[in-house]
Amino acid sequence: MSQPIKFTHTVAERFLRYVVIDTQSDPTSPTCPSTEKQKNLGRLLADELQAIGLVDAHLDEYGYVYATIPATTDKKVPVVCFCSHMDTSPDCTGKDVKPQIVRNYRGGDIVLPGDRTQLIRAAEHPALADQIGNDIITSDGTTLLGADDKAGVAEIMDAAHFLINNPQIKHGPIKILFTPDEEIGRGVDKVDLKKLGADFAYTMDGASAGDIEDETFSADSATITIEGVSTHPGYAKGKMEHAIKIAAAIVDRLPRNNCSPETTEGKQGFLHPVEISGALEQATLGFIVRDFDDEGLKEKETLLESIVKEVMRDFPRSTYRMEINQQYRNMKGVIDRHPEIMDYAIEAIRRAGLVPVKASIRGGTDGSRLSFMGLPCPNIFAGEHAIHSRLEWVSVQDMEKAVQTIVHLAMIWEERASGPVSA
Ligand SMILES: [Zn+2]
Repeated sequence: MSQPIKFTHTVAERFLRYVVIDTQSDPTSPTCPSTEKQKNLGRLLADELQAIGLVDAHLDEYGYVYATIPATTDKKVPVVCFCSHMDTSPDCTGKDVKPQIVRNYRGGDIVLPGDRTQLIRAAEHPALADQIGNDIITSDGTTLLGADDKAGVAEIMDAAHFLINNPQIKHGPIKILFTPDEEIGRGVDKVDLKKLGADFAYTMDGASAGDIEDETFSADSATITIEGVSTHPGYAKGKMEHAIKIAAAIVDRLPRNNCSPETTEGKQGFLHPVEISGALEQATLGFIVRDFDDEGLKEKETLLESIVKEVMRDFPRSTYRMEINQQYRNMKGVIDRHPEIMDYAIEAIRRAGLVPVKASIRGGTDGSRLSFMGLPCPNIFAGEHAIHSRLEWVSVQDMEKAVQTIVHLAMIWEERASGPVSA
């Protein structure tokens, strides 16, 4: 690069403006967005984007915000989208968030002033060790903070503002997408990809500065229905086969030292019972199955069925049905078809002065669903930590690095584009 870019320091200000707006989503609501209040933030963001100069910025009836940063180059550059979600988790209240800033963090525990029993302990939050000298934003301890994912929202907003005010920076057309209801798994239900018109996308919704994720779990559900043999309990000897007891025996024989959420990490998958219901005659067991590839899923489903069969041997007149349903798939398969998506993002993180760290998500994201809808979409760090809790925190400096990463990434897509638009 010929001369260094002069970045601004306005992302924290935006962030503090957004976190005080309650946008908690609600899994029990059938509407989209699940809560009308999410539109309060959506409306503000659309207005701010309009004020920045993005003339097509708007909030739609489903609570999505769309906008375009027009290209500043003659080259034909793929259309890249940056995406964040506006809702916060239903697991922890997001009403009346009162953020505090701990400036120039010197290490040690952080006491939250609204509830002094709430302590962000350095020993339990090892990522704090990388934040010495930084300014850390937390809630007052009575609510979550909402860095997940208003940090991402603020970063994209700030990058948009920066690019519009620095037209000498060359980039292709850039799309902005803010979604509702990500936390309840419905963040892309009503997205209009045709209207968005992007070739590739990045969610800004990760943790530590430098992190980039192109892998999610692959996920199935497994439902086992057991038909036992019912009789009057007074005359049951040698006849009754109790469906509840069969179900309990299956759960009892699940592996104890592996293959469960509480015994796995990293790239290991698991089998996890999530529901049990029943009576004498019939019982149902619901499982979720997780792994990073299809063989791993298959292995775990085979293991589950072999446990079921083994148990059923003791109940010869009872029967079972096992049903597997696909929930979502690892996005890596889609993203790997376009290696430049990750290569450019890694280069952008480096140019922002960070060490890129490739990681995988032990869950699903909006990005995994977008990837399979035809919009390949890895996840870049936003700086959020201890999410879905009252101990949630983010540092101002990490958010600034995320803004720089977005700007560099926009530039790299332009630099690597082949040539001028044919006349
Ligand atoms: Zn999130």
